[in-house]
Amino acid sequence: MSLEVRLVAHTTEPARLVAAAAKLCYSASSVGDLYDGLDSEKIRHFLKLLRDAGHLSPFEHASFTYAIEGVSRVATHQLVRHRVASYSQQSQRYVTMGPPRCVVPPSIEGNAEAVEIFGSQAAEAHSAYERMIALGVPKEDARFILPHGWETSIIVTMNSRELRHFFALRLCRRAQWEIRSVARRMLELVFAMAPELFDASGPPCVSGGCTELNSCGSPFSSTEEVLGER
Ligand SMILES: Cc1cc2nc3c(=O)[nH]c(=O)nc-3n(C[C@H](O)[C@H](O)[C@H](O)COP(=O)(O)OP(=O)(O)OC[C@H]3O[C@@H](n4cnc5c(N)ncnc54)[C@H](O)[C@@H]3O)c2cc1C
Repeated sequence: MSLEVRLVAHTTEPARLVAAAAKLCYSASSVGDLYDGLDSEKIRHFLKLLRDAGHLSPFEHASFTYAIEGVSRVATHQLVRHRVASYSQQSQRYVTMGPPRCVVPPSIEGNAEAVEIFGSQAAEAHSAYERMIALGVPKEDARFILPHGWETSIIVTMNSRELRHFFALRLCRRAQWEIRSVARRMLELVFAMAPELFDASGPPCVSGGCTELNSCGSPFSSTEEVLGER
């Protein structure tokens, strides 16, 4: 199965909500008129002011839930390192792993001999898994033999502050290719529905400054350019 990322739920009018929350901080508005006059242009302007000032807590009011499948455990291990989030991942303790389903890295896919090695080793590992289960070894122990590349599915919820942080780290050209693909798809989905909220999202070079120790030397100039990369 190829990578599939769906946006399954999100806060209603997320950008307006974040702008309204920020407006509450800086004006004498009552809660009844917080949304008044908050058109797309004002929201975009307001959210940029917040970002420039480093006042990022209003971004925490908007949350987004994704369902991701066809992704390897290599990638989800990197994903779950992001702690300001909620996760539900298919369990290898409770779910029996069927025939080999591994994400094949492009560097292997493009090499017939490597594909043969990869495929036969995955099949061998899965056969060992099944044989151990037949011997009475619990699934939670038999799974130790399965490859890192095994496909999994995961539901993740992040607020827009954490998403922006996640995109900054994981859309850098120096990040690993699979987590970059996941992050790109995640950004694509939220950028389409809340462009003001994810304006200038992506690695720090999008906003003009690289923070990498070993810069790639090829900065992105915009979020659109990040999304256009394949
Ligand atoms: C290119 C790249 C290479 C990497 N290589 C490695 C590697 O070799 N080995 C490795 O172990 N990891 C590696 N990582 C993972 C990295 O160290 C982080 O664990 C991961 O990116 C999660 O990001 P984060 O810690 O900024 O924050 P998140 O968990 O996303 O949290 C967001 C922010 O909240 C704050 N925060 C969260 N929890 C705490 C806390 N407990 N205390 C204080 N502040 C907190 C921090 O400001 C943090 O930046 C790599 C990441 C990248 C992008």
